[in-house]
Amino acid sequence: MKKHLLVLAVLLFVAFKAQSAPRTLDIYFIDVEGGAATMIVTPLGESMLIDSGFQEDRDAQRVLHVARDVAGLKQIDHYITTHWHRDHVGGITLLAKLFPVKNYYDHGLPTAPANDINVQLIEAYRSVSGGKSIALRAGDEIKFLSERPIPRLRFRILAANALVVGEEAGAPQIKQCGADFKPIEEDKTDNANSLGMILTFGGFRFFNGGDLTWNVENKLVCPEDLIGPVDLFQVNHHGVNNSNNPAMVRALKPRVAVIDNGPRKGADPKTYATLKSVREIEAIYQLHKNVVSTWNDNTASTFIANDEEKCQGEFIKVSVNATGRSYRVEIPAKKIGTTYQVR
Ligand SMILES: [Zn+2]
Repeated sequence: MKKHLLVLAVLLFVAFKAQSAPRTLDIYFIDVEGGAATMIVTPLGESMLIDSGFQEDRDAQRVLHVARDVAGLKQIDHYITTHWHRDHVGGITLLAKLFPVKNYYDHGLPTAPANDINVQLIEAYRSVSGGKSIALRAGDEIKFLSERPIPRLRFRILAANALVVGEEAGAPQIKQCGADFKPIEEDKTDNANSLGMILTFGGFRFFNGGDLTWNVENKLVCPEDLIGPVDLFQVNHHGVNNSNNPAMVRALKPRVAVIDNGPRKGADPKTYATLKSVREIEAIYQLHKNVVSTWNDNTASTFIANDEEKCQGEFIKVSVNATGRSYRVEIPAKKIGTTYQVR
């Protein structure tokens, strides 16, 4: 009888713990020094990695550390390559040898050789994915497990192959739209083909536009705003200034922006000025201090994960409350965190 009571007490305690501390939706911005590697872990423990950094042991190890040691994952359930540049697809071949990666997604394997795409990286990707990657199109969704009362997660592709939701194949990259829009020369690199994605969880909205550039960004918000206001914005293309068209950034109205720059790549002063000009913005985070520009063009050190060029590869973590009503942004290495309200 006593034993039964003890078992009951333990069960009640476990149930209470589970109820009192529901898991958060976590988003990790992993430092790959000017590449991209963003990991999402849902409250039910499902995981997604968007890009994998460069083809260096350094980047595969950093992703592995966050996935296995910090987030406690056993595998990556969904891996997305936003586009074929080496700072995005490079790390996956090494990572996949160290850690199970289940499903692969991209914007379609390149059909013709291109100057800006490394053929060996594509072949290595084809090999680790077993040739079974799924090509995503604008409007596609990736489904996540859900369970009441946790809000439903929705993950939707808004741009792929220089087309945005609602456009037919063959639509031009440059569409004149908006009074202030000045197109840049057609971007013939794979950046223009990058996937652009929105994750929603309750009221919380996160936009990751990969390395999308100016002209496609404009189509995302004109004539129709296909993204809408967001709580969290992964600044496009590491904050390089042929991306982050002010028309898009202002339509996003981000409350928090995270720049996945390197010490000498991205977080350009022009992008930083655009972000600062957004009335709704409350905080700009950077993975690195831009050591090439001045402090005036960098966010405050308390919002920078890595101040020094020779760094430990510290990450930024965003945890969205299980109600989807507030989120906390932390730089664990600095033991600094701030909570923001979802709009
Ligand atoms: Zn990039």
